[in-house]
Amino acid sequence: MNYDFIIVGAGFAGLVLAERISTQLDKKCLIIDRRSHIGGNAHDEYDDAGVLIHTYGPHYFRTDSERVQSYLSQFTEWLPVNYEIRSYTRGQYWNFPINLNTFEQYIGRASTREEFESWLDEHRIRIDRPANSEELILAMAGPEFYEMFYRGYTVKQWREDPRNIDPEVCGRISIRTDRNNGYVSERFQALPRDGYHVLFDNMINACGGNADLMLGTEYEDVKSKVFCKHLIYTGSPDEYYEFALGKLPYRSLRFARQSFDANELFEREAIAGKKGFWQPTVQVNYPNDNDFTRIVETKHITGQQCDVTTIVREYPQDYSDGAEPYYPVPTGEAAAIYRKYEELAGLERRVTFIGRLANYKYYNMDRVIEKALDCFERMRKMI
Ligand code: FAD
Ligand code: UDP
Repeated sequence: MNYDFIIVGAGFAGLVLAERISTQLDKKCLIIDRRSHIGGNAHDEYDDAGVLIHTYGPHYFRTDSERVQSYLSQFTEWLPVNYEIRSYTRGQYWNFPINLNTFEQYIGRASTREEFESWLDEHRIRIDRPANSEELILAMAGPEFYEMFYRGYTVKQWREDPRNIDPEVCGRISIRTDRNNGYVSERFQALPRDGYHVLFDNMINACGGNADLMLGTEYEDVKSKVFCKHLIYTGSPDEYYEFALGKLPYRSLRFARQSFDANELFEREAIAGKKGFWQPTVQVNYPNDNDFTRIVETKHITGQQCDVTTIVREYPQDYSDGAEPYYPVPTGEAAAIYRKYEELAGLERRVTFIGRLANYKYYNMDRVIEKALDCFERMRKMI
């Protein structure tokens, strides 16, 4: 079988490139994925209870990029969403990310932005250039909030002391002195109206006859049988090079689903504050109690109307045989291993490495899409 391009991985990186190559260059590509579906980690599906859930953890689409928004808008309409979450600790739900509402909960009375700012000024630790996630939060919010909301969660998530974790990791979460309860800060926050799986189907359909799909297939198993002029690889680089320069660490997760019908929800609805729901917001973080980091109830944001609901508990786990590589590990040690693979990859003339796994970067979806669009523009110039 001969193709212009073989694309390993049908996540956002692979699908954006397949769509661009098929529609703009009229070239033939083969997309291979070991999973039984397209969409990679952003896949969603209706579970056995009939609830639309995000299969691999909550995927809150958000972007500041007009270009990414307008590119994706060719394949979906949007459901605007305000992503609000809570953190559960010391026996209560807290507004999170930390903001003026959190501060009022903490001091047990009404307050003002000015009071919160001077409280922060008094409690934060003066660190000029925070070198890790612990220093960053101590510098922004002080030790009390660090212990309440960050330390336990970060240790659970990464099985590393936050002192060993890059500052950008805890820095993903804004700390605000106004009343904005939003989990994220980007200008555009919305979900594909009919689900990610429909968006992905539309991307594949746009490829027409120019793209073939091989799902449930390991690249390794077919690489001697399929041929191409150029390979686009969105998997882990250490796997591609058969671990020649060592194993790249990843962090994995186990997802435990639980569904509830209307009768079973009776007691929880009071806690949720909404009929037909189990918890108050789409996501509740558990920084200090339990083995899981968060519970996600996607029905809060998908707009689905139904009596049943599903919650998913997320248990961080080591990445070993059989586990999925969900997160590149944000430590200096891991980055040093990756740099060696990056050097090797830079020597390739007929292989492009792109995506969250291949570039070993903690990218959100919009960043991966942007990178894939840039990559296509470079390829177009070379052809
Ligand atoms: P992936 O989606 O990982 O796709 C890579 C594909 O390649 C996979 O399907 C894999 O099976 C396949 N593959 C790899 N190697 C091989 C091989 N050798 N043979 C065959 N197939 C192979 N981003 C956001 O913007 N907002 C969020 O809220 C958000 N939440 C997230 C929550 C979790 C728990 C996780 C893990 C990620 C989250 N992300 C979020 C990030 C988002 O998932 C990624 O940015 C995006 O999916 C990356 O796309 P990708 O194509 O690079 O990789
Ligand atoms: N984090 C934390 N407490 C929380 C939420 C996040 O300490 O309640 C830290 C943790 O280290 C996490 C990082 O901030 O890995 C980034 O959080 P985010 O919610 O962006 O993680 P993701 O959704 O990518 O898993």
